[in-house]
Amino acid sequence: MAYISNEIINEIRNRTDIVEVVSKYVNLTKKGKNYIGVCPFHDDHSPSMSVSPEKQIFTCFSCGATGNVFTFVADFEKISFIQAVQLLGEKAGINISNSDKLVDNKKDDYFEIYELANKFYQNSLFTSLGKNAVEYLENRKISKDTIKKFGIGLSIQKVSLTDYLVNKKYSIQKLNDIGLTNDNGKDVFINRIMFPIYDLSGNPVAFSGRIYNTKDTSKYVNTKETDKFKKGKILYNYHIAKEHLKKNDTVIIMEGQMDVIRASTVGINNCIATMGTALTRDHRNVLKNMADNIILCFDGDTAGEKATLSAIELLLDTGVNIRIVRLPDNMDPDEYILKEGKDAFLRQIDLAVSVIEYKMEILKKDKNLGDARDISNYINSAIKEIANEKDDIVVELNLKKIATNFNVEYETIRKKYDDFKTKNRVIKKEEIKVKKTYDRYRKAENNLIYYMLKSSTVLNMVEKRVGYFPTKNIRDLSNEIIYYFHKYGIINVADFISYISFSDELLGTLKDILAMNIKEDFQVEEIEDYIFVISEYYKKKKIDELTKMMKEEKDPLKQAKILGEIMEIRGVRKDDTRN
Ligand SMILES: [Zn+2]
Repeated sequence: MAYISNEIINEIRNRTDIVEVVSKYVNLTKKGKNYIGVCPFHDDHSPSMSVSPEKQIFTCFSCGATGNVFTFVADFEKISFIQAVQLLGEKAGINISNSDKLVDNKKDDYFEIYELANKFYQNSLFTSLGKNAVEYLENRKISKDTIKKFGIGLSIQKVSLTDYLVNKKYSIQKLNDIGLTNDNGKDVFINRIMFPIYDLSGNPVAFSGRIYNTKDTSKYVNTKETDKFKKGKILYNYHIAKEHLKKNDTVIIMEGQMDVIRASTVGINNCIATMGTALTRDHRNVLKNMADNIILCFDGDTAGEKATLSAIELLLDTGVNIRIVRLPDNMDPDEYILKEGKDAFLRQIDLAVSVIEYKMEILKKDKNLGDARDISNYINSAIKEIANEKDDIVVELNLKKIATNFNVEYETIRKKYDDFKTKNRVIKKEEIKVKKTYDRYRKAENNLIYYMLKSSTVLNMVEKRVGYFPTKNIRDLSNEIIYYFHKYGIINVADFISYISFSDELLGTLKDILAMNIKEDFQVEEIEDYIFVISEYYKKKKIDELTKMMKEEKDPLKQAKILGEIMEIRGVRKDDTRN
């Protein structure tokens, strides 16, 4: 098991800005001193997640997800806490794998090997053996700058990547596992133009190799799926497109990497592509957090149309604004830009249509719109589509459009629409807020823990006066906070989260408390009240026990004695009971 000291973890956290990291995954907007965005941990439609640059933590006030930069990356990427520390450590320039403070038998050199392979292929392209390939690329109007920008390289039969990596002391088995070497110990990619594929964080994790001067049954060969390269999760060019979104909150989705590369040659950098698969739910979760606007720009053929419809289906309920580009003559974006140029393509982007408009166009296919019966069928199916729209104005405009286009009275269309809506009234699903309710004791405990993390005064008060918290997790958490404070002299919540990350239970308890949205400031009197409530808890518990004993007791003398004890706990002096 990996062990990384707290000092190293805190150092990485100090060198990492949570706002910067989270905004790689989620679109953030500044609001006051915090940043807000759509929460990736529940089906969020309005921004519920707040990221605090000051505290370096994030909190979702709808589902209660909260934590520091490590837990965010761990939860988002579905990796362990330690893996998240390693990932961010590499980015912060702290190489934990080489640190003697790390004892990790299963050191993973996947990224390291891919970095080397990536450089190896890139260098090969500009050797004398790469002349044909460079010519091929230049003929296809891929300039040297573009080659550099996308890290395009070349695999050459005469120069073996496997030999090169084995010389660097990587085992054939490892190279085979990660998809660079085949079962015969030879390179997987031979004589292909190599396109590196990066994961969402920008690490090279696979290659796509394209033939360029031979005939081959497969134009493209991709690295086999590995634990780090899953086609259903990867979006080509994500890490670069993300950087270009700040100015332009729109992401353009295309079918192939060549489309994305081509678009960048005319200065459009906010494009991504799937790896030859349809969009998946994993893609959807990334996309809904990436931008507020998505433009689908798939190939102009029937397959592209099918892909567009299924992407719309998948993205429709994310709340993202979707528009669709329809390229003419079965062209893909690569071909279209090559043939028609930058301005024509930008015009296509500007002309992108809404989902309703797109579907209404698609519905016209295979219909004879000179025939009254076909027109009626068309209008009925168009109304069904329009009924999915939430914006009344969009609905009305589209109904009017149908009326004008087919020369039917607007009232007639409107009535048809209203009838359809009444028959198919959709019950709106209210987002269920998961808010835990606590009794007054637990509330006092939660508040005390929260302020202990903020103030050494509260911490001292609790240490001196609350010997024992009633709830076990709170008790353990309090002990950890006190221990941490005495050890480091200060408590930083973001670092404390790392510190207790070894225990899911403690981390869970702390997360619940952080997500309660407890107010920042407190008065000492409030703290006194909470401590009083906790002491009341023990009194009540003791009194309950004694009352039970008294009821079971037969001897009146003993009963009286117990009653005396109860009175004493209640704060009533024995002398007073005589009155
Ligand atoms: Zn949430």
